[in-house]
Amino acid sequence: MPKSLQAQHHNLADKATQLKILSNGIFADGQLPTFKEKIEPLNEYPLKPTSIEIFQVNVGYMCNQVCKHCHVDAGPDRKEIMTRETMQQCLDILRKTKIHTLDLTGGAPEMNPDFRWFVEEANKTGVEEIIVRSNLTIILANPKYHDLPEFFKKNKVRVVSSLPFYQADKTDRQRGEGVFDKSIEALKMLNAVGYGKAGSGLNLDLVYNPSGAFLPGDQAGLEREFKKELKEHFDIDFNSLFTITNIPISRFLEFLIRTENYEDYMDSLVSAFNPAAVKGVMCRNTISVDYDGHMYDCDFNQMLGLKVDKKAGQHISEFDLEKLENRNIIINQHCYGCTAGAGSSCQGTVA
Ligand code: SF4
Ligand code: SF4
Repeated sequence: MPKSLQAQHHNLADKATQLKILSNGIFADGQLPTFKEKIEPLNEYPLKPTSIEIFQVNVGYMCNQVCKHCHVDAGPDRKEIMTRETMQQCLDILRKTKIHTLDLTGGAPEMNPDFRWFVEEANKTGVEEIIVRSNLTIILANPKYHDLPEFFKKNKVRVVSSLPFYQADKTDRQRGEGVFDKSIEALKMLNAVGYGKAGSGLNLDLVYNPSGAFLPGDQAGLEREFKKELKEHFDIDFNSLFTITNIPISRFLEFLIRTENYEDYMDSLVSAFNPAAVKGVMCRNTISVDYDGHMYDCDFNQMLGLKVDKKAGQHISEFDLEKLENRNIIINQHCYGCTAGAGSSCQGTVA
């Protein structure tokens, strides 16, 4: 199995190196405008939050897969993991605030030994919605995960699953040999307990991201295509499809540089910049928390080590909703990924 950039001691495992690449070169010499220069004339700089509605908690970077484009640089060799104590701090915040959604991500969030405890306790806080971002194959990775569909159902969790394509070749190329077949089997297990079925109230959404250095196609069209193909060939049902643009950080940045696509890709993101998408970027209503309890404007800023503005307090132990809602969001050139075309967020397009 391939290793994470961190385990390879790759220079791009270093956040500062990634930030240098994003800040220098084509952006420093004026070939392309920086994101700041692009949003300043729209009166969107500094970028400000609306209200914090979503708490996205990354419970660890360990994953059973090592996908080529992973922005987390996750894999079986990553050991960073959230403790129950930090989870407890998150629960206290959910109890105290009007945040309506807890969005659990990783790595494979299910691999955190306290994952199930966290979900059950989160349900007791009265939070309206709990999302689990599942890579699907984890359900089959070990017998101890086989009952995850029942667990999700019992806890009324909304399952959001990545499936890059409805055919094996593209999916396996990006996520690893055999991933497609396992994902199909896991989707069937989720369908069997009611997920994705009309009237069940159990939501199963899929996430598509391009398998190369290009922007995703039209979300509604792709959803229709996925629904037709998955039903016809595998009798699988799901609710919505979210298209997500690959963000030029971590392993996707490594891919862009290795294949000499970095400059062209950034150029295509900048050319497709959509001012309307700036209004809907997810950092405006989300706080991202890492395994250690530090806070970021989004999961991408988390991976670049760009914590929220210092004045807002950078750790959940100093959580202050008012300060956070008035902070300036930290931006860099990777933000073009969220504002190209129809925009991109963890919930799909934004414009
Ligand atoms: S993209 Fe998701 S499933 Fe793939 S390695 Fe990263 S965290 Fe794991
Ligand atoms: S990368 Fe993060 S900070 Fe930048 S626009 Fe997207 S969500 Fe906001």
